[in-house]
Amino acid sequence: MTTSLPLAASSNSDNPLGGVSDFFSSSTFHAIVLLVLFFIGVLWLALVFWTYKDAKRRIDDPVLVGVSIVTALVFPFVGALVYTILRPPEYLDDVRERELEIRAMERRLGEEGMCPGCGGDIEPDFIACPHCARRLKLTCSRCRSALKPEWRLCPYCEAPTPTQQQRTMTLYETSS
Ligand SMILES: [Zn+2]
Ligand SMILES: [Zn+2]
Repeated sequence: MTTSLPLAASSNSDNPLGGVSDFFSSSTFHAIVLLVLFFIGVLWLALVFWTYKDAKRRIDDPVLVGVSIVTALVFPFVGALVYTILRPPEYLDDVRERELEIRAMERRLGEEGMCPGCGGDIEPDFIACPHCARRLKLTCSRCRSALKPEWRLCPYCEAPTPTQQQRTMTLYETSS
C-alpha cells in the first residue's frame, strides 16, 4: 500500500543544499560579488559626476552645486534621483539667452514704438511725435528727408547735415 513518493528519492541524498552552500563559499561566488559591487560603485560615482556636471550647468550658486554633489555622494542613487526631481528645469545658458532676447526686444520697442518724451505710440519713420510734437529725428534742411544722427550729409540731396551744436539747439527749440 505504501508506494515510494517522488520526494523520498531526493530526501535520501546526503544534503540537497550541499551543492548550493558550496557554491556560496566558493571563490567564484566571491569574485561575482566583488564584480557586482564594483559595477554598483562605478555607477554610483558616475552618477555623482553626472550630478556635478548637470548642476554646474543649471545652478548659479556654488554652495547649491556643492550640496547637490554631496547629496549624490552620501546617498548613493537616491541622492542623484532627488537631485533630478528638484533641479532647476532650465540650463543657465538658456535663461541668460532668453533674458538677453527680452532686453533686446524691450530696447527695440523703446526705440521704435514709443515716443521718448510722452510715451505715445509712434511709427519708425515719424520725424516728430504726433502726441506731444517732440522732434524725434533730424531732417534735411534742403529736402526735408529724415536723417540718421550718424550721417554726415543727406544721402538724398547731398546737403551737409547740421553740426552737433545746431542739432542740440534745434531739438531744444522744438521739444520745449
Ligand atoms: Zn510724444
Ligand atoms: Zn536732403
